[in-house]
Amino acid sequence: MVSHTLADLRRATHELWPEDTAESWDQVGLVTGREDAPIRRIMLAVDAVAATIDEALSWNADALITHHPLLLRGIHSVAEDKFKGSLIASLIRGNCALIAAHTNADQPVGGVSDVIAHRIGIERARPIVPLPDNPSSGLGRVGDLPQTRTLRSFAEMLAEVLPTTAGGVRVAGDGAREIKRVALLGGAGDSLLSHPDVVAADVYITSDLRHHPAQEALEQSAVSGGPALIDVSHWASESLWLDGAADMLSAQLPGVEVRVSTRRTDPWSFVVGAGVIDTSDGQ
Ligand SMILES: [Zn+2]
Repeated sequence: MVSHTLADLRRATHELWPEDTAESWDQVGLVTGREDAPIRRIMLAVDAVAATIDEALSWNADALITHHPLLLRGIHSVAEDKFKGSLIASLIRGNCALIAAHTNADQPVGGVSDVIAHRIGIERARPIVPLPDNPSSGLGRVGDLPQTRTLRSFAEMLAEVLPTTAGGVRVAGDGAREIKRVALLGGAGDSLLSHPDVVAADVYITSDLRHHPAQEALEQSAVSGGPALIDVSHWASESLWLDGAADMLSAQLPGVEVRVSTRRTDPWSFVVGAGVIDTSDGQ
């Protein structure tokens, strides 16, 4: 039987999600672990939080790969009365390495945005912001649906593709609007709201849209045209990447068991007072 070490896993993750393609502010790659440690079981999750780390440790995972880095900004203590110190200590005591594949996993073919595009049936999806030296990779995706459909039925289809969350799928726009061209960015995407490919789309799907950027984009759309907006759970949109990532890792490391976390790490629990505030339908 082939045996693998953390060094092999690092080579595999670097091949799939090259660390030098991460954004300059990002912190990706190995967080805890020893290169010669054996790797028999790998778990993948969106977030490195108590729920996913407990799940990895109780399955005796040798490595946990998360999309979001546990350590993004500087910390000055790993004392265990703070949650990050406590999580790091649990991983080290449990002999479980931690690896982050964040913006380096957003951009490639098979990356976070690419997977979302495929799952909602976009044809010939291309990056909104291609990498200069590798134009099939890059930030976000834009492409066309095979058939035009209304914004309402498109949003309903999207809600079925995504795992259920308390916040569901929020839509800004006329439910009867015809949708053909779709732009999207997995994770927080207000940075692309004024990108020409987003402005030229019929709908833009992303997460964490705040009041002012969303309102300003919609106001500008009313003047000169622009997309309807769909705001989805950040965790839900990125969770779609995990299954394909697990398959790619399995192919790279035969004999290693790779499993996707079953924990839902969307932070919200429930919603009250929500309702349809539709000022456009039927006018
Ligand atoms: Zn994210």
